[in-house]
Amino acid sequence: MPSTSASPRDPTLRPRLVFTDLDGSLLDHHSYDWAPAKPWLARLKAQGVPVIPVTSKTRSEILPLRRALGLTDAPFIAENGAVAGLPLSWSHARLERGPGSDGLAIRTLGVDIGFIRKRLSVWRERLGVRFTTMSEMSLEELVDFTGLAEPEARLARMREGSEPLIWEEVDERLATFREGLESDGLRLVRGGRFWHVTGDCHKGSAVSWLIERFQALRGSRPLTLALGDGPNDIAMLEVVDQAVVIRGCHDLEVSPDQVSLYRSVVTGPAGWAEGVAYWWGRADRRLRSADAVVRQSDHRGGQGRVPA
Ligand SMILES: [Mg+2]
Repeated sequence: MPSTSASPRDPTLRPRLVFTDLDGSLLDHHSYDWAPAKPWLARLKAQGVPVIPVTSKTRSEILPLRRALGLTDAPFIAENGAVAGLPLSWSHARLERGPGSDGLAIRTLGVDIGFIRKRLSVWRERLGVRFTTMSEMSLEELVDFTGLAEPEARLARMREGSEPLIWEEVDERLATFREGLESDGLRLVRGGRFWHVTGDCHKGSAVSWLIERFQALRGSRPLTLALGDGPNDIAMLEVVDQAVVIRGCHDLEVSPDQVSLYRSVVTGPAGWAEGVAYWWGRADRRLRSADAVVRQSDHRGGQGRVPA
């Protein structure tokens, strides 16, 4: 039934947020290209819908990428939930120190990288397990392993809150390793190419934190969509209203506990576009210009409690 009133319960008029994994999702797993997603990115931008990267990449890697993708108005989550970057419209005067020269306030949601590295070497010795962390790889090895160009590989090594590693043991030994890390308050998460060791945070906790922040600043509950292709995306796919599992270039199982789930037929950015179109391209769920209302709201005049 068509409605003319701007009820916050009307899903076509609620502000919307898109949370997206990058590698293998918005970006092609091999070429890092995103051309098939461009029409939807432009459409979401025109409607004032933030597209928020939620990735295992570092802050240093994301900064040039979000410029290239045209996502500089949106926040981002780096290192699997360990780091959040907030543009002025998403930061809170009472809670964040003034933004840096890039206009971003940075929040660490996890633990310091120094602690993670120290504990990794302790557990390697104690359990006698073999793995290679990203910080132990030469630049050349990293380029070979990831297919990144050298300048990008350099940025990938600038970690702030998580350490990727290549596991060089049988999978059966992972459980003991994981238990050891957990006793230190650390988590082991599988990404596309690496295992990632982080503090007690993940993509899901970081996305929930950002949704709460949005509600506190704008005073309305957004309709949320998340897209990802890997096991490290599961937590994120479970805390949103609608989710897309993008067909992966791997055989890892990605089965989030989510009733509003769509699985794309194609991989990478084409699957990304397919997933957004599935949820928001249909007549009954289409984006409306009313979504743009969110752009007009005063971010400093937020209502309610602001999550720290
Ligand atoms: Mg991925």
